Amino acid sequence: MRKLAAGNWKMNGTAAALDEVRSLLAAHPAAGCEMLLCPPATLVAGMAAVAKGSALAVGGQDCHPKASGAHTGDISALMLKDAGASHVILGHSERRADHGETDALVRAKAEATLAAGLVAVVCIGETEAERDAGQTLAVIGGQLDGSLPAGATAANLVIAYEPVWAIGTGRTPTLAEIAEVHAFLRNRLRGLIGDAADGVRLLYGGSVKPSNAAEIFAVPHVDGALVGGASLKAADFGAIVAALSA
Ligand code: PEP
Repeated sequence: MRKLAAGNWKMNGTAAALDEVRSLLAAHPAAGCEMLLCPPATLVAGMAAVAKGSALAVGGQDCHPKASGAHTGDISALMLKDAGASHVILGHSERRADHGETDALVRAKAEATLAAGLVAVVCIGETEAERDAGQTLAVIGGQLDGSLPAGATAANLVIAYEPVWAIGTGRTPTLAEIAEVHAFLRNRLRGLIGDAADGVRLLYGGSVKPSNAAEIFAVPHVDGALVGGASLKAADFGAIVAALSA
């Protein structure tokens, strides 16, 4: 299995930020892992042009479950593909919180992503209150069951475990907590899609940075990272790529 270093730029970046991508590619022309950056939709085509012929894949951060239609302000997986994307992040906790996205909606979006021939990066994770209440595995197990697209395979699905309380806070679970969740997810996924589960990349996300990347990547069943803040700077994301490639 090839490990995956994925970056989520969220609502950050204008065309000038593509210089960071040029710097990243100059420093890591042939990374030992897959690299993916998901900029705002306005930058997908521009980033894809910069990344053309390189080891960097480009993705969207959300899509509509339909391919086209009267849905003002939305964007479809087909449109993202047309702009040069190969992946789409679905069900990020910020979308679940800001836009009330349910597991069923995330699943529909993920299925639209697969139908367009793109890879779905499905995000799940517990809140701090849920962890404190001892509900972590029940919550993420339910999210995985409810968000998993029909037709998922090792090639078209990536799962990102992102504890909500670790996103953008500088706080991370202990390595033992990450290990517990990732082993649980691998097992749960086996029950859902059989042996294909062993090839699905399970990313950890939440305050990954150059200083903690190597220890997190050493945890069993951690097959890469989904990185927010640290993906905006070529030097930081490049250091995480290097840690994953080691
Ligand atoms: C994210 O938003 O997916 C994320 C993990 O953010 P950060 O790395 O900034 O915590």
